[in-house]
Amino acid sequence: MNYNADNIVAIASGSGYAGVGVVRISGANLDKVIAGIARIKTLRPRYAHYADFLDVNGEILDSGLVIYFPAPNSFTGEEVIELQGHGSPVVLNMLVKRCIELGCRMAEAGEFSKRAYLNGKIDLVQAESIADLIHAESEASARGALKSLKGEFSDYVGQINSSLINLRMFVEATLDFPEEDIEFIAAAKIKDKLSLVRQQIYDLLHSTKQGVLLNQGANIVIVGQPNVGKSSLLNALANEDVAIVTDIAGTTRDIVKQKIIIDDIPFNIIDTAGIRDTQDVVEKIGIQRALDALSRADVCLVLLDYRHGIAAEELQIINALPANVPMIYVHNKIDLSGGKPRIEKVDGHTHIYISAREKLGLENLRQQILALIGWENNQSDVFIARTRHLDAMRTTVEHIDYAFMNWEQLDILAEELRYAHTALGGIVGEFSADDLLGEIFSKFCIGK
Ligand code: GDP
Repeated sequence: MNYNADNIVAIASGSGYAGVGVVRISGANLDKVIAGIARIKTLRPRYAHYADFLDVNGEILDSGLVIYFPAPNSFTGEEVIELQGHGSPVVLNMLVKRCIELGCRMAEAGEFSKRAYLNGKIDLVQAESIADLIHAESEASARGALKSLKGEFSDYVGQINSSLINLRMFVEATLDFPEEDIEFIAAAKIKDKLSLVRQQIYDLLHSTKQGVLLNQGANIVIVGQPNVGKSSLLNALANEDVAIVTDIAGTTRDIVKQKIIIDDIPFNIIDTAGIRDTQDVVEKIGIQRALDALSRADVCLVLLDYRHGIAAEELQIINALPANVPMIYVHNKIDLSGGKPRIEKVDGHTHIYISAREKLGLENLRQQILALIGWENNQSDVFIARTRHLDAMRTTVEHIDYAFMNWEQLDILAEELRYAHTALGGIVGEFSADDLLGEIFSKFCIGK
């Protein structure tokens, strides 16, 4: 622990009204704060003392529990006190003010977690998973965040790290003693070990991708003519009334961004404005936004009234899509002809027939969407991950692949393994720069 750490304070519970609220204090020495705020004869570690919280004149501000976590057995690794008072923002702010009078300063966003990380209580992945747990949008993502917090993801990284270190040592030793015999035996071993590590890295890359999907989901763009049923489809997929459904053309003037959960995966649904040539300034803005959204799409749904073919406008949009965005042609309103929900493949394109209003064929559509983004259903062992982790994994894979291609050239191999090791270690924060830490922790809320 940093023995010069100043004392920081923040409300650790939510910002609204509640039965109980928590003020958290952390620092190198809290004696003065404790003595100033409550009169407790013998403060016992991890014991709930009931006490009055006092102001500078000894008047009662509130009463509640004082829990003391001595260093290093606390969340931050420092001396920590938690005051549990009544969950009123006014009362909790009075307690915070009192702590500031007693020499604390307001904690910055994520500062408690940052101290926990700097004091070696948790690694970077675990710190991030605290934020992800708090913001989890489905039960599965909360469970996934907890797995990461408990260290499952970090353990995988740690295992591969050890294999990499092992391999690096072996390669460097071989480089140092390039005698013919050793080299011959060593070469065979190196290739085996390298293949093994590479496989582990690919497995972790795959799990990381799943973890990122669970955490961040994907973007679905819906394009289609006015009145074709885009808003109705949104509502049906979301199971709630999020978009206004009317039969006046052009009501969806702006892109609607709505989060829906399909099989635990959060999706941003971007309902494009009825994209068409228009002189209306507001509508033009909506249309520009829709075109921007297309470039960030993971899946594009081209919604058609099944009675009509593809109109020129739709073709225009389809042509504007980046080539790698998978598309599903969704034919809506099949109920009008008594049609059956079905999936067809025509010229390599998927066509799904549905009725948004009668909720027919929606499950086909959901499953197809999940398949296109690469989500594998029924996984109970997914830990949560972030794009930062995925980027690091991709860099690791690049170097390990290059190492694999050049395994006979020991100097290149050694260099590439070193790069792979650095990229992988960055995930848990082994070699992380200060600006990366700033970037990560500043996105936390105060009090975490
Ligand atoms: P948008 O302009 O593309 O967002 O279309 P809306 O969702 O507002 O729907 C336009 C009209 O079509 C509304 O009157 C809807 O009730 C109707 N509609 C949407 N989906 C269906 C469907 O599956 N079957 C039928 N019969 N009508 C639908």
